[in-house]
Amino acid sequence: MLMYASVGISELEMPTKKSLVIYISNCQHRCRNCHTPYLQNCYGDLLKENFETIFNVYYEYFDIVCFMGEGKETEEDKKEMLDYCTFIHSRKKMTALYCGRNCQVENWMDKFDYIKIGSYQEEKGPITESTTNQKLLKKENNKYVDITYIFWKLNNH
Ligand code: SF4
Repeated sequence: MLMYASVGISELEMPTKKSLVIYISNCQHRCRNCHTPYLQNCYGDLLKENFETIFNVYYEYFDIVCFMGEGKETEEDKKEMLDYCTFIHSRKKMTALYCGRNCQVENWMDKFDYIKIGSYQEEKGPITESTTNQKLLKKENNKYVDITYIFWKLNNH
């Protein structure tokens, strides 16, 4: 089951949109100089117990629910996240996944409106830098389009 360490509203995670960011713990990656090492541990509360309350409390303040991480990446965790996506869409909000892995879009990710892929590589910089290895993809007409450049434009203003 997915566990989360904290939640918050952010205007930085998605360009031009407000996100309800949910920091998922049990991260399986071990990026060098990880910026949030506590997320590598079994830390926090069960998301299932609080998700709908969190969603409803913040409802007026966000456009997108952004899952920061994939937890243990088990089939059970994926299904849980996809069930949240169904709920979120039914309530007219969008979904985003920050997967933190070097991968292509996988079939199970199809319910996300935005997907950020690519591991955190300190020397290449965060996604807001044009040197980054990370990509933000947006689903448009059932295809994922790379919109990473929007971060760089915003960063230069
Ligand atoms: S994916 Fe994020 S939380 Fe996980 S090890 Fe890498 S930087 Fe840390």
